[in-house]
Amino acid sequence: AKADGRGRWRFFEPEMDARMQLRRALETDLRRALSRGEFELFYQPIVTLASRQVAGFEVLLRWRHPERGLVPPDAFIPLAEEIGLIGPIGEWVLRQACREAARWPAPLRVAVNLSPAQFAGRVLVDAVTAVLRETGLDAARLEVEITEAVMLQDTRTTLVTLHRLKALGVRIAMDDFGTGYSSLGYLQRFPFDKVKIDRSFTRELERSRKSNAIIRAVVGLCAGLDMGVTAEGVETAAQLETLSRCGCDEAQGFLFGQPRPAAELPEMLRQLEQA
Ligand code: C2E
Ligand code: CA
Ligand code: CA
Ligand code: CA
Repeated sequence: AKADGRGRWRFFEPEMDARMQLRRALETDLRRALSRGEFELFYQPIVTLASRQVAGFEVLLRWRHPERGLVPPDAFIPLAEEIGLIGPIGEWVLRQACREAARWPAPLRVAVNLSPAQFAGRVLVDAVTAVLRETGLDAARLEVEITEAVMLQDTRTTLVTLHRLKALGVRIAMDDFGTGYSSLGYLQRFPFDKVKIDRSFTRELERSRKSNAIIRAVVGLCAGLDMGVTAEGVETAAQLETLSRCGCDEAQGFLFGQPRPAAELPEMLRQLEQA
């Protein structure tokens, strides 16, 4: 520790300092990323288990940083939320994804992740309405994925927004189900079309009978609630086999494909339809 100019003691933690510097540098770059066209969308297939057909693609955001290369979303989305940039970035993702999906053969769906901050006010419903009109994408082919963090904040506003999206014909998925504090009450209160079981459960499938029991229970529960179930993070044929036996509707994971740029979509589709 050493005294600063005003005679107070400051403690220097080199590690903390380096993290703060990195954060500041990223923040400056992030503020320019949208106007510089540095964002890219990657797409990961979601497969219907009964038919083994591709049901659609989830859109996963990437930032192609001029020096740092491809930055994954976990490294910049929390920062974008914090500094109030997730609104414009999220709207860009939505527009770009719907534009892309409008060119896909129907009924392929596109799934877009929404951040809790995008639920403040009426902006989201207006943006979705405008984008659907602009791109001509059938609302039924757009799915939005929300996490429990969305439901934890102002529940009333969130509910109104979700019902408005549903009224447009948009589908709603609950993401990362089973993590955090997700309560069954959410399933009753919010108008979900499907639940995505977090990959932590899929990962344990081969080792743990408990994970198997949990997935079976979620599938049963969702069937009674008229909701579909998608398993995330499917990496092995054995996991896929077990998920099919559990009655899961859809699966997503590296077994079917990693998230890839839009240009590779036709090739991905061809390969998956042949398999
Ligand atoms: P998520 O919505 O749960 O997305 C699934 C994540 O799991 C993706 O990571 C995907 O690449 C990864 N994944 C998929 N299959 C497998 C697998 O078989 N094994 C393993 N180990 N991982 C798999 P990614 O692309 O790094 O995205 C991380 C998170 O960032 C997403 O989690 C989502 O919460 C957020 N995110 C991504 N794009 C957006 C966006 O446009 N807007 C918002 N608000 N959040 C986004
Ligand atoms: Ca997701
Ligand atoms: Ca997820
Ligand atoms: Ca996640």
